[in-house]
Amino acid sequence: MRERRGPFTLEEVHLGALRPDEVLVRIEATGLCHTDIAVRDGEMPSPLPAVLGHEGAGYVAAIGDSVTGLAVGDPVVLTYLSCGECRECRTGVPSACVQLGGLCFGGARPDGSHALHGSCGDVLHDRFFGQSSFATYAIANQRNIVKVRPDAPIRSLGPLGCGIMTGAGTVWNALKAGPGSSLAVYGAGAVGLSAVMAARVAGASSIIAIDVVASRLSLARELGATHTVNGGEGDVVSAVRRIVPDGTDFAVDTTGREAVVQNALLALRQCGALALVAAAQPELSLDMFNLLAGCKTICGVIEGGGAAHLLIPRILDLHMSGRFPFDRMLRFYTPEQINDAVRDSVNGNTIKPVICFGQNAA
Ligand SMILES: [Zn+2]
Ligand SMILES: [Zn+2]
Repeated sequence: MRERRGPFTLEEVHLGALRPDEVLVRIEATGLCHTDIAVRDGEMPSPLPAVLGHEGAGYVAAIGDSVTGLAVGDPVVLTYLSCGECRECRTGVPSACVQLGGLCFGGARPDGSHALHGSCGDVLHDRFFGQSSFATYAIANQRNIVKVRPDAPIRSLGPLGCGIMTGAGTVWNALKAGPGSSLAVYGAGAVGLSAVMAARVAGASSIIAIDVVASRLSLARELGATHTVNGGEGDVVSAVRRIVPDGTDFAVDTTGREAVVQNALLALRQCGALALVAAAQPELSLDMFNLLAGCKTICGVIEGGGAAHLLIPRILDLHMSGRFPFDRMLRFYTPEQINDAVRDSVNGNTIKPVICFGQNAA
């Protein structure tokens, strides 16, 4: 990505030598996430030009001298990078790492060096989410690599490292939705549909998906939603309360839009909890009386909360036993088609595009 709002361009670039704690990964496939598009559009502070991509999956091609627990040939999923040293990292919540922003969006290693250079030796920002995996090879840190079971279909696994984990972890780790609970999911994209699948696994009895795209709502039903509401057809709060008259125990907002968050709050029951996983606007105005008198909770959740090293294998095991069919959301593209993938994601035709770099290219 050379410039704001520009296209992705295919270029040959140079990878530097591995540091002792780094790992070279031969990328098989990488999911396209809204955050990649947000960087293109300048909504995120990441510098350009850069190699983006942060839902990579592939095989370990080489390891640095101090890397433990990984070997050449291991199938791996790449995820966000955390520092490993702050209080949140040390207590098992690297998703809340205080250095996450700089490590994932800084465009360089913490010391300012780059693992990538352009073909003329020019600076190319890299280390996006500690990976920059829209590439045939990526250099990641051992901390943001998760080894996965070898029998899983590698080209489908990249989105586990961000979007899918965000939806599932929010339901399990942050909201802790349990058997018999009710949960509303606002926005039936990859994150929202993952929340739907996670709520079904958790035994929620009412799972309500809200979106304005009819095809996404029908997929939500197939993936576990017990009810759907078309947000473009009438008052959403009334529609949710017709299904669950007291309101929902839990809600997940994946849209980051003020009007949707306001609806989610009003449709919560007493002592209900709302998790926000996206921010499309810088500020939010809320009905404070409803929040206070309802004894409600609103929390922000990054990457599903908790630890990717626990979440990713858990979701994958469920997937392999048929209980978390996230592959239903995927559509595969070649690297040459990456700008088509962006277009299909923005216009809603594809829920989760995946760019294939390996032998299994679409
Ligand atoms: Zn993402
Ligand atoms: Zn940390």
